[in-house]
Amino acid sequence: MDDAKCFAFVRQHRWPESVRCPACDSSSVIRDGCDDTQPHRQRYRCKACSGRFDDLTGTVLAGHHQPLRVWVLCLYFMGLNLSNRQIALELGLDGSDVQTMTEQLRRGLVAKAPEVELTGEVEIDEVYVVAGHKGQPAAVAKRAGSGAGASWQARRAAARWRRTSRPSSG
Ligand SMILES: [Zn+2]
Repeated sequence: MDDAKCFAFVRQHRWPESVRCPACDSSSVIRDGCDDTQPHRQRYRCKACSGRFDDLTGTVLAGHHQPLRVWVLCLYFMGLNLSNRQIALELGLDGSDVQTMTEQLRRGLVAKAPEVELTGEVEIDEVYVVAGHKGQPAAVAKRAGSGAGASWQARRAAARWRRTSRPSSG
């Protein structure tokens, strides 16, 4: 399996429909030449966020010590439902190396999700667990009517006040 086939295989797995920007998930993407040292590694530019990326950007395949061909063959054998042991034999690799690779590949070809950007008002969930009450329902019931209960009410009210995303709370 040569480099051209390897990158074609990666593209096909990663973007079955159309190439998407790993930063903003836009499909308004144009080709932007090829990698300087790997001529089959396609580069892209996103028209939505002006981000630049290539076939391997953000995947477990980028910057790994195993050659791309080994990853691609591993993916291919996984598709044939070969066991880790069989894949290790086929690739001449250590069983634990193959185990690590298949685990990473199963989590998805794109291991690193784009960074989450929080904008506007951010809500923290109001649900929490009071520690130390397990197996002592009487103590919990007793405390619910006292000061501890009041502070819980206050915190819940504060959380509700911040909740703006839902039209009605309750
Ligand atoms: Zn983008």
